[in-house]
Amino acid sequence: MEKTLQTALLINGLFVQGEGNIEEIVNPATGECIARIHEASLEQVQAAVKSADAAFAEWGRTTPKDRAQMLLAIADAIESHATEFARLESLNCGKPYALALADEIPAVADVFRFFAGAVRAQTGLLAGEYLAGHTSLIRRDPLGVVASIAPWNYPLMMAAWKMAPALAAGNTVVLKPSEQTPLTTLKLAEYCADILPPGVFNVVLGRGETVGSPLITQPQVRMISLTGDVSTGSRILEAAAKSLKRTHLELGGKAPVLVFDDADLDEVVAGIRAFGYYNAGQDCTAACRLYAHSRIYDRLVAELSSAVSAIRFGKQHDDGVEMGPLISERQLNRVASFVERAQQQGHMEITAGGKRAPGAGYFFQPTVIAGARQSDEIVCSEVFGPVVSITRFDDEAQAVAWANDSTYGLASSVWTRDVGRAMRVASALQYGCTWINTHFMLISEMPHGGLKRSGYGKDLSLYALEDYSVARHIMIKH
Ligand code: NAD
Repeated sequence: MEKTLQTALLINGLFVQGEGNIEEIVNPATGECIARIHEASLEQVQAAVKSADAAFAEWGRTTPKDRAQMLLAIADAIESHATEFARLESLNCGKPYALALADEIPAVADVFRFFAGAVRAQTGLLAGEYLAGHTSLIRRDPLGVVASIAPWNYPLMMAAWKMAPALAAGNTVVLKPSEQTPLTTLKLAEYCADILPPGVFNVVLGRGETVGSPLITQPQVRMISLTGDVSTGSRILEAAAKSLKRTHLELGGKAPVLVFDDADLDEVVAGIRAFGYYNAGQDCTAACRLYAHSRIYDRLVAELSSAVSAIRFGKQHDDGVEMGPLISERQLNRVASFVERAQQQGHMEITAGGKRAPGAGYFFQPTVIAGARQSDEIVCSEVFGPVVSITRFDDEAQAVAWANDSTYGLASSVWTRDVGRAMRVASALQYGCTWINTHFMLISEMPHGGLKRSGYGKDLSLYALEDYSVARHIMIKH
C-alpha cells in the first residue's frame, strides 16, 4: 500500500475524505492493492454540485484573461510535478513509466495551455444591422455546472480534455474520475485547489451507479460530459433526457486501417506496431482493424507479426518496456475471450501472441489475427486490448465499404503513396478523423470526436470551446 497518496475528494475548495463505500485501487502489473479510498456519499455529491453552482455566479463573469492565467498556472503545476504525475499514472494504470512521462504528461499540460490561449482569441459572426434599425450581436456564454465523467485508459489526459475547455469557457466543473484510476485526478485537485477559487473545480470519486448517476441527475447540472462505453453513453442519455441536459459523449471506437498495395510497408509495420498496441491497445483510436490489399497481404501479415512479437511488455519500470498490462482482471478476461472465440472459428490464424502472460499482473501478449472476415466478431466489436485483426481486400470500393460497415465512427487511417486515392478514400470514410500514412496523432488545435455510436461533441480545439458554451443573440433596436 502506498502511504503518501492524496485520497480526499475536493469539494468547495476543501479536502474531505469520502463517506461512501470503499474502492480498492489496484496496480494492474501486480494485482496488488495500492490504496483503499472511500467513495463520495450522496450528500457529498450534492454538496459538490451545490458549491459548483454557487461558484458559477462569480467564475462565469471572470475575464478570459483571468481564466487563462489560472489554466496556465495549472499547466505549470503539471509540468513541474511531471515525474510525480507520471509515477502515479503508471502505477495506477500499469503504463510504462517512461512513456507516461515522455508522451502523456506534456500533452496534458499542453491542453491547458491551448485552452488558455484559445479562450482569448475566439472569433465569430460580426455584429451588425441584419434587420434595418436593429443591431445584432452574438455572445458566447458558459452554461453553468458541468458534470464530467472520465474513463480509466488515460485518466489525467481525460480529466484535462474535460476540465480545460469547460473552465476556459467559464463553467464550473464536478469531475468524477473512473473508480479504478482516480490517483492522478486526486493529485491534480491538490494543485488546482491552490490556483482556482473554491467550488470552481470539484472532484468526487466513486462508481457509476453510486456516484456518477446521482451526479448527473442533480438539477443544477447543466451539461454532462462522458468519455466511456457506448452502453454508459446510452444510460447517461436516458437520464439526461428527463431534464433535457446538454450532453457531450466520447464513446468507443474500432478504427479501420486501409493499407493499399503502393503503401510504404516499412512505415505501415512500424505504424501499426506503435499505434495498435500503445496503452496495450486500450485506446478508442487504436489501429486495430486492418484491411490489406491482396498484393501485399502476405508480406504485411509476416512482417507485422514478426514486429509485434518483438514488442517488449512488462512492468512500469522494466528496462525498455513498451507495453504494460490491461487495466483489470475483468478486462484481461474480456480480451482473452475475444481471442479464444476468434481461434475457435477455424478460418483465422493467430500469427503473433494470442495468450495471457503467466504471473500475477493482467498481461496479454501483443496479438495479430490474420484471415479475419468482415462479419467476424473480432472485426466488428471493440476489444480494447493489444489485438489487431487483418482482413484481405481486392479493390478500393470494397475496402471503403467494409471500413464504413461499422457501428463506430471515431478514427481511421489510409496508407498509400497515391495522393488522389488518399484524398478520395478520406472523403468517403465516415469517421471523425482520418489520418493518411499515419495514425493516432492528436494535437490540441484539432478536434477529436466521433460519429455514429462513437458519440458526438468534440474534445480539443476551438470546437470544444463551442461545445462547452452557448451562442446567444442580443438585438438592440435603435
Ligand atoms: P465505462 O463506460 O465503464 O466508464 C466510464 C465512466 O463512466 C466511469 O467513470 C464510470 O464510473 C462512469 N459511469 C458508468 N456508469 C455510469 C452511470 N450510469 N452514470 C454515470 N457515470 C457512469 O468506460 P471505461 O471502461 O472506463 O472506459 C472504456 C471505454 O471508454 C471504452 O469503450 C472506450 O472506447 C471508451 N473511450 C472512449 C474515448 C473517446 O474519446 N471516444 C476515449 C477513451 C475511452
